[in-house]
Amino acid sequence: MLTQRTFLFTAAAAAVGFGINAYAARQIEYKSGIVFPEPKMVAPGKTDAEPPADATVLFDGKDLSKWNNGDNWEIKDGVATAKKSGITTKEAFGDCQLHIEFATPEKVEGKGQGRGNSGVYIMGKYEVQILDSIDNPTYFDGQCASIYKQSPPMVNASRKPGEWQTYDILFTAPKFGEDGKVTKPAYATVIHNGVVVHNHFELLGGTFYDRPPVYQKHAEKLPLSLQYHGNPVKFRNIWIRSFEPLVGKKPE
Ligand code: MG
Repeated sequence: MLTQRTFLFTAAAAAVGFGINAYAARQIEYKSGIVFPEPKMVAPGKTDAEPPADATVLFDGKDLSKWNNGDNWEIKDGVATAKKSGITTKEAFGDCQLHIEFATPEKVEGKGQGRGNSGVYIMGKYEVQILDSIDNPTYFDGQCASIYKQSPPMVNASRKPGEWQTYDILFTAPKFGEDGKVTKPAYATVIHNGVVVHNHFELLGGTFYDRPPVYQKHAEKLPLSLQYHGNPVKFRNIWIRSFEPLVGKKPE
């Protein structure tokens, strides 16, 4: 029965496929008429975790020389551990793709927002939360991978304390008018340990602990910060790529 059904399905699919092919052969190819520049070659890393050739490597295990206050953090065995203060990149970024690996402390201490807290502050203003979110109740829009006080992650893809985790973040910087009002909000797509947790999320403004999100006009590019929240969260393999849309033109 199953075999016969499979055969009939295959035969039907083949007939449809043949029909489409025969139809396509008679068609004139559609062309948009837009002249695009050729996409430039970017050599990817050997794995998706490795920086592509055009990435700015912000931490490769050796030093935090690309960061202000980098001296405040401890570097040992290729790993940087948060201490004393937050750190901020010397370079500014706008639209970007960020890869970052982190581990909350293996020794579980504190609770809620006091356990394994750090954070990725894109443009120094928009926080993707880092927290130990394994058996650690807190407000959902403040758990690991939340856009802080704006949206919980769609799912909790956290690994255990002490285990390495990844964020791959795509960020579109907001745009502002002359009058200071936002004309295009910021968007963030966040993939946590290979699992999408925010899909093109529209940010409501900067992320704050003590007030609602709000946009305040700022430069097109700003430095990236990593938070120190009193917990020795570990980091490794941090890289970032700026990107911009490839714009084509229709000849007059
Ligand atoms: Mg935080």
